[in-house]
Amino acid sequence: MAAVGAARDAATATGGSAAPFALRHLHLSLRVGFAAAGAGRLRGAARLELRCVRSGSREVVLDAHPALSVLGARLLPPGGAGEREGEGEGQELRFESRPFASYGTALHLALPEEPRPGELLVVRIDYETGEGPGMSWLDSSQTAQKEKPFLYTSGFPVLNRSFFPGFHTPAMKSTYSAQLQVPEGFTAVMSATTWEKQKDNTFVFKMEHPIPSYLIALAVGDIVSAEVGPRSRVWAEPCLIEAAKKEYDGVIEEFLAVGEKLFGPYVWGRYDVLFMPPSFPFGGMENPCITFVTPCLLAGDRSLVDVIIHEISHSWFGNLVTNATWGEFWLNEGFTMYAQRRISTEVYGSAYTCLEAATGRALLRQHMDTTGEEHPLNKLRVVIEPGVNPDDTYNETPYEKGFCFVSYLAHLVGDQGKFDAFLQAYVEQFKFQSITADDALGFFLEYFPDLKQQGVESRPGLEFDRWLNTPGWPPFLPDLSPGQQLMKPADELAELWAADGLNMEEIEAVDISAWKTYQMVYFLDRILQKSPLPEGNVERLSAMYPKVSKAQNAELRLRWCQIVLRNNHEPEYSKVKAFLHSQGKQKYTLPLYRAMWGGSEAARALAMETFSATAPQLHINVRNYVKKILGLEGSD
Ligand SMILES: [Zn+2]
Repeated sequence: MAAVGAARDAATATGGSAAPFALRHLHLSLRVGFAAAGAGRLRGAARLELRCVRSGSREVVLDAHPALSVLGARLLPPGGAGEREGEGEGQELRFESRPFASYGTALHLALPEEPRPGELLVVRIDYETGEGPGMSWLDSSQTAQKEKPFLYTSGFPVLNRSFFPGFHTPAMKSTYSAQLQVPEGFTAVMSATTWEKQKDNTFVFKMEHPIPSYLIALAVGDIVSAEVGPRSRVWAEPCLIEAAKKEYDGVIEEFLAVGEKLFGPYVWGRYDVLFMPPSFPFGGMENPCITFVTPCLLAGDRSLVDVIIHEISHSWFGNLVTNATWGEFWLNEGFTMYAQRRISTEVYGSAYTCLEAATGRALLRQHMDTTGEEHPLNKLRVVIEPGVNPDDTYNETPYEKGFCFVSYLAHLVGDQGKFDAFLQAYVEQFKFQSITADDALGFFLEYFPDLKQQGVESRPGLEFDRWLNTPGWPPFLPDLSPGQQLMKPADELAELWAADGLNMEEIEAVDISAWKTYQMVYFLDRILQKSPLPEGNVERLSAMYPKVSKAQNAELRLRWCQIVLRNNHEPEYSKVKAFLHSQGKQKYTLPLYRAMWGGSEAARALAMETFSATAPQLHINVRNYVKKILGLEGSD
């Protein structure tokens, strides 16, 4: 389809897929140096192999960042760009860094003459970088092992601008390779299909499939690995590796196999998992070949292994078929939520999956209650105006409303097997490409001509156009009633705990020992909704269920902390503090700071005290969001 990827991405200086150049390959050649404290440095070069696709431009415009210093730029002779090109090879290019947005700059390289469409160009940019929002330099105290520093990059959504100059738009995909020299005693890993360790502690990586820049990821630290399946290893700091191996041995392969059965071949070769230091801001980041995840997933009892299903699902949705702009992020996340729940249904059954989906729906409800349903971010196609940081548009809508829309498409088809086959065809049709919602929906109607004939895209109230462009609650909700058998006892138990004068006999008669994570989460969400509970109830609940109040499972800890705060239960404030000290995941950290800041004087004091102690270990984005919540903006 000619329309594929033809979307202008306002978040990039390069113009997204409307750019005059396409990137064919990126090569990074860098030396990593750690500093005694604070940010270290990356020094080296980025080499970009470009193809001119439109005439009329005598400059190459790249996305970069003020933290990245360009030392020189050269146009290299075509074809001759080997690994060893000399410093002086090729032709020097004039370059200029111009302001672009709060989150980055535009790097202009002047070409000696206007290239013809189809012409290949190779440019090399010598640069160094250190501090920058995409680079997280942790000193040893911020790691789990507490012995050596650690570096990781996070490119999503536009943060790799401070890692290397390039086309930082999801509209453009390329293969990449990298050569990284790291200090002795450190290991480097990247999102690449092959890697090799050479002399001088140099690591060489190749990604043989085209990927968007936000999926290029690097981690350097004292990390080791252990096999957990025929194509999977876990990576972690030495002190975590045993726990990681125990928790994930054998389970990843099962999820991958179900994914392949449903959505087609897993093309990325290996599926490894890297457990990050505690400050990692995300639950997981689906970097191809090596997912980066929060150490919160090491619950000790395999109770959170299903979280990995989400990241595995991105292997098809997001990583193979990618949204061309961040304004249509639901193409990544809505399809992934649907795929995750398909795999989960196959592995755990529909009751448990519907229960987990009900938790997701509750998060969407919470989000829309906070922002108001009519908020412009509460539609699936968000208009990201020039200058707006795509990261600031991040919310629950593309995930859960996106899930509802994909579920609606499945409902229109009416047959799970046929819809699964469609998903497989969709992946096959668009793999290694970046697409728009129009591409996806056009293909859906083409694949099901009967539905097209019936005019399903314009059913009153359920128009595809309304799904995409109208904010608000989803006009269709998938049936989650199979989850009732697990929700009902949780609802009833929450009812008992919310009563004045507790009926302990009835409460004690409910056996929760076999409840799995999401049934407990569902129960705690109900308790939170009913909070504040009558005086004394939270104390007794805490004593009754150490499984909750002393949980190691992060999903349970989050809920328990929320309950503690909503009920002003000061004796357990220390748990809120301990949880926020132990990890820095955005989805856990922000709701707790919001709850503290909206609470009592004591809760506000707890917020300030905790933030001043943990700020240095938080990811910069999370730190800034917390500052906003606490009204500390601009007080650096
Ligand atoms: Zn995701």
